[in-house]
Formats: sequence, structure tokens, C-alpha cells
Amino acid sequence: MMQYFEWNVPADGTLWTKLKEDAAHLAEIGITAVWIPPATKGQNDKDVGYGIYDLYDLGEFDQKGTVRTKYGTKQQLKEAIDELHKNGIQVYLDAVMNHKAAADYTEKFMAQEVDPNNREKPVSAPYEIEGWTGFNFPGRGEKYSAFKWHWNHFSGTDYNQANQKKAIYRIVGENKAWSTGVDSENGNYDYLMFADIDFDNPDVIKEMTDWGIWVTEELGLDGMRLDAIKHINDDFIKGFLGAIRAAKGKEPFYAVGEYWKGDIESLDAYLADQKYNVDLFDVPLHYNMYQACQDGHAFDMRKLLDNTLVARHPEVAVTFVDNHDSQWGSSLQSQVKDWFKPLGYGVILLNVKGYPCVFYGDYYGMGGKPSPHRTVIDRLLEVRKNNAYGEQVNYTDHPEVIGFVRMGDEQHEGSGLAMLISVGDDGYKDMNVGANRKGEVWHEATGNITDTVTIGDDGTARFTVHGGKLAVWVPAPNIDDGSTGK
Ligand code: CA
Repeated sequence: MMQYFEWNVPADGTLWTKLKEDAAHLAEIGITAVWIPPATKGQNDKDVGYGIYDLYDLGEFDQKGTVRTKYGTKQQLKEAIDELHKNGIQVYLDAVMNHKAAADYTEKFMAQEVDPNNREKPVSAPYEIEGWTGFNFPGRGEKYSAFKWHWNHFSGTDYNQANQKKAIYRIVGENKAWSTGVDSENGNYDYLMFADIDFDNPDVIKEMTDWGIWVTEELGLDGMRLDAIKHINDDFIKGFLGAIRAAKGKEPFYAVGEYWKGDIESLDAYLADQKYNVDLFDVPLHYNMYQACQDGHAFDMRKLLDNTLVARHPEVAVTFVDNHDSQWGSSLQSQVKDWFKPLGYGVILLNVKGYPCVFYGDYYGMGGKPSPHRTVIDRLLEVRKNNAYGEQVNYTDHPEVIGFVRMGDEQHEGSGLAMLISVGDDGYKDMNVGANRKGEVWHEATGNITDTVTIGDDGTARFTVHGGKLAVWVPAPNIDDGSTGK
């Protein structure tokens, strides 16, 4: 999978067109699915997409001062999706359902200020506030949906227009409470930002589920990336995915949730509750990489996969190195340092376990600056396609240098690989790639090492790696058969 955006892509409405023109190339390098940014109308034409205004406006209506979104128009989006599908690439939409922003008008209702660090604890008596909770979508009218949003469709907000006071306000009224089935951080983590949608309201549940079915059909989606699910009632997510999958009939519908927490137990509990019907991003693995890149040789590499989703539930783990939130300057800033990126991509792209996600920023660059990692990611993707098959044997036996081999399989002639990464000095490992490989000459595919190695009689060879680098050893192209060496 590729996450096809980073936080700072230009807000010039060209991403959908770029994506369309890139579809054939993406297929060629082995990308089989693209996670696209929120395609729905945000607060303005520069909104990355998480400040959702109207879910039914995919860049079609003149609202919030713009027809297009940051990424282009609905027509351009549909053309991009068509082109991706023609190239055999699936499309996952980033679905932002936790909140709404940039309301059309204010409303007066009762609310109560709560302690930001413990939202279960009121810090004022209920009183009337004037909040931005009225959405009537004058630019769209009633096309696709006649639903209009009011204060009773939300559980909280963060601004009182009457006195311009910022706080976390819990909306008070009949059947009004923070949602259950959300993360327990800060007492109850229902509230994240803007006007928080109340997923205990039956009208809201129906409207949001209808939207999910509509947008899936309208865009021909193959799946979704569900934003901020630790702030959304888990029962809603269950029902929502169930409804879309039912509408899809026999066609599968993929879903991966963003449950941003480094603690494996929380992810585990959520997955069990969802009966493993949704994948999750492997946030603990990201944080292990983040730790490793800072500690260098002081990090014990035998622990790189400890308490990660890919170790515990590989079948539902989406592995990644960085994303738009972890990148430098973003809300969850924890960007993996440049020296470690190739090591991280080696681990996720060549591993038998996990569903790897390549970050646009690591491939194309961030903020207009080209990425130094594109070449190595291209090489790793090629090795993934040609060599990363068969059983995996891990050599997690040294604090600074770890590695694994893939034994290859019969369906992919010449497949198999030996990978090593070092956070310390130059190192080596004696690893066995199978007695059937005896006498084969292997070379290092990323260009870090120019020597070759010959596989010994029992299938073992001494594979080397430079300090702070990765090394990916694969069978060398046979120079005698006149082939191009692929
Ligand atoms: Ca919420």
C-alpha cells in the first residue's frame, strides 16, 4: 500500500491529477493499493482534509470559498480512481468521521466545561453557550442527503461564541453523554477536536452509515482508512463496516483503522472487540523504530519487534515507518531519522508478516524537497516483487545486528533473500538460505556492498552489513545466459 500524500503537498488542487498520471508507474513498482487523503470538503481549499465540513462534497459544490478540495475536483478524483483501477490498484479513502468543522451558523444550547485531562470531571455548572454546530450546506442544498446538522447531533465542542471562550464543552441534554467504547485516556477520549459527532444519536448513526455506503458506491472504493477511531464509539465502527460490506455483497471491502497508541494492549483489546474485522496501523512498531533511530547502537535490536502488532497479530497489522502525522512538524511528531529509514523499510517490505505501507513523503519527498530514500525504496520494492517469497527465518540474536532470510519458493524462480540491519558497527551473520543454493553467488541489492558471497555446501554463508545500514543479499543475476540480469 502507498499513502499517497504528506502533510505539506501543495494546496494547488493537482494531487488527483498527479495520482492519475502516476498510476501506471505505481503498478510497475509493485503498489497494489493506494490510501488517498480525505477527499471531502474541509474548512477551506488548503485544509489537509481532517477539518471536515461536508462529507457529501467531494470537490463538487461551491462551499467554503471553493469547489475543489486541496487535492482537486470530484471529476479529477474519479478519473484518478478509474486509472488506478485500470492498473489493478485498489483505492482506500481516508474517512474522517469523528468531527465536523467550519459550521454555517451558531446555535445556543446547554453545555458544561470539563477538565481537559479528565473529561469525566466537570469544571463548571451547565450553562447556555453559543457554539458552531449548525450545518445546512447552502452550496449543496439537499443533493445526495437532506440531513442538516444541529447541536444535538454532537457531544462536545471547543468554543463559545458568546464570550469567545475556548474550553472543552460537553453538550448537556437528554441522552447526552460522552460516548462509551472510546479510548480511556483523559478519562474519556471521545472528544478530539472541533464539533465532536455524537455516535449515540440514532439519526447520526443512520446518516453516517448512509454516507459510507454512498461514498463507497459513488467512488468505487475498495476500502477505507478510518481516521481517529479511538475517539469513536466502537459499536458504530462495527455497524458501519458491516453495512458497507453488506451493500458490497460478495466483493471484499478493506478497512484499516488509525488507533494512535503505542501500547499493544489497547490495540489488542480493540481488535478483539472488532472481532478482527478491521486492520490497525502498527503504531508500536513505528515507536520502536523511532526509539531505535534515536538510541542507535544503544538500542537493543532484539527488541525491535517486541510488543508490536506485527508480532502479535500479523494478519491485521499494517506496518509503516512514518506517516503524515508522525512527520516533522505534525501533531504526533515522531519522524524516524533519515539514517534509519532504509532499515525500517527493509524490515517492513521484505517481511513475510504485515501489510506494508509506503509513505508518499519517504518516496516523493516532503514540502517540495525530494526524498533521499526513493532509490532504496525502489530497490526494496523490486526485491519484494522478485525475491521476498517462502518461509522466513529470523536471526534476532545480537543487540546491534539482526537479520532474516526468506527461503524462496518454487513459483518464483531464483527467489529468496538474506537481509541484515545494523545500528552499531560493521557486522556479519552466518545465515542459512537452503542447501539447495550451494555454490550460488549472491550480491547485495541496495548497492551498499559491492562484494559477492558464495553459498556454502550446507546452504550457509557469511553475509555482511555496514554499520548503521541495511544489506539485502539476493542471488546475483546469471551473467552467462545473456539475460538483462533482472
Ligand atoms: Ca468522538
